[in-house]
Amino acid sequence: MTILIKDGHVIDPGRWNGPADVLIENGVIAAVSPGLSAPKTATLVHAKGQLVLPGFIDLHVHFREPGFEYKETVQTGTASAVAGGFTSVCCMPNTNPVNDNQSITELILERAKSAGNAHVFPIGAITKSSEGKELAEIGDLRRAGCVAISDDGRPVMNSLVMRRAMEYARAFDIPIVDHCEDLHLSEGGCMNEGLVSTELGLPGIPAAAEDVMVARNISLAELTGARLHLAHISTAGSVRLVREAKSRSLHVTAEACPHHFTLTEEVARGYNTHAKMNPPLRTWHDVQAIKEGLRDGTIDVIATDHAPHAPQEKQQEFTEAPFGIVGLETALPLTFGLVDEGILSVEAAVSKLTSQPAKAFGLSKGTLAVGADADVVLVDPQAHWEIDPSRFRSRSRNTPFAGWKVKGQVTTTIVSGRLVFELIPAGR
Ligand SMILES: [Zn+2]
Repeated sequence: MTILIKDGHVIDPGRWNGPADVLIENGVIAAVSPGLSAPKTATLVHAKGQLVLPGFIDLHVHFREPGFEYKETVQTGTASAVAGGFTSVCCMPNTNPVNDNQSITELILERAKSAGNAHVFPIGAITKSSEGKELAEIGDLRRAGCVAISDDGRPVMNSLVMRRAMEYARAFDIPIVDHCEDLHLSEGGCMNEGLVSTELGLPGIPAAAEDVMVARNISLAELTGARLHLAHISTAGSVRLVREAKSRSLHVTAEACPHHFTLTEEVARGYNTHAKMNPPLRTWHDVQAIKEGLRDGTIDVIATDHAPHAPQEKQQEFTEAPFGIVGLETALPLTFGLVDEGILSVEAAVSKLTSQPAKAFGLSKGTLAVGADADVVLVDPQAHWEIDPSRFRSRSRNTPFAGWKVKGQVTTTIVSGRLVFELIPAGR
């Protein structure tokens, strides 16, 4: 199958930024250049006024299968991904059972294949059942197709266990991803600890619960030489620590989520459970630090932490509701919000969704180089639209961004040379 994408503005970070056509043949990029022509049998995609980008890569999603299919499945999760422009997603192991062995990894890969939407790269558990005690068979997980290891959601508290995990991760040349939270410091908390939590009478999670684990992990990465990736950093302290670690050329990368650079703890007023996530929404000061970290390159990657939950779960008391929001279908316009604010260039914003996550996990994705898998997304950068959760492809609707008027919209997604998503404008 041949596809010719005509007259778009191609941004392939570090390689191309300008008008060009993109020719796709047999599932790979065959040419990127102005004035391309294709055989009559080719499918023509008109991209005038649109950006033509490498498909986005999300290093942090929760696809709930196996075990919690009422929230999301690999099928609905990947449908949500391609609707948001993500052609590759890395799914966290906190399923039931936990993805701590190759049979679960293989099941996820099998489901992804039959869904036929985005590429799925599983992340294996660090410890058996993510209990933080005994290491999982990291070599087996790697061989089965896991691209990283993490106990996201139930972070490893024991520093000796974490040290050993990093030693194995280094031996198997696999990045180790940590959700940085000292569970003793955060115990019982449901939002950021500060003025707002005091006013609302809700138990807080101090910024220090994150900062101390970022510091620990950086120290252990230095000790072991492991490639450390810090998930969803949310505090000014974390940004400062990562910046310092990078200045010493340690193998540390970091991601931030759109909600952490868009919203503050103020959103929790009214006990809105769609403002409940972990790490929690922080202060204005933290948000500024995250933006500065994105601007100066301290934060390499934008990831969603897509965390679907059913309505009846989110419709509980704030203290009882589960943490997390869906993010795949809102990430692009929220990221482009940083472009409008003058914090990132369009190319820098695109790199944090494409080439930078590919680099952090060593994935051969995130580029439109000739011969690369034809994972391509078209974005209308001027489209104004309103976020309507009822239109999400995800099985879940838990978002604090319902009704937001945003700019920048994914119109077409191509995975391995197959058209898997085309936008149907609202009202049609
Ligand atoms: Zn997490």
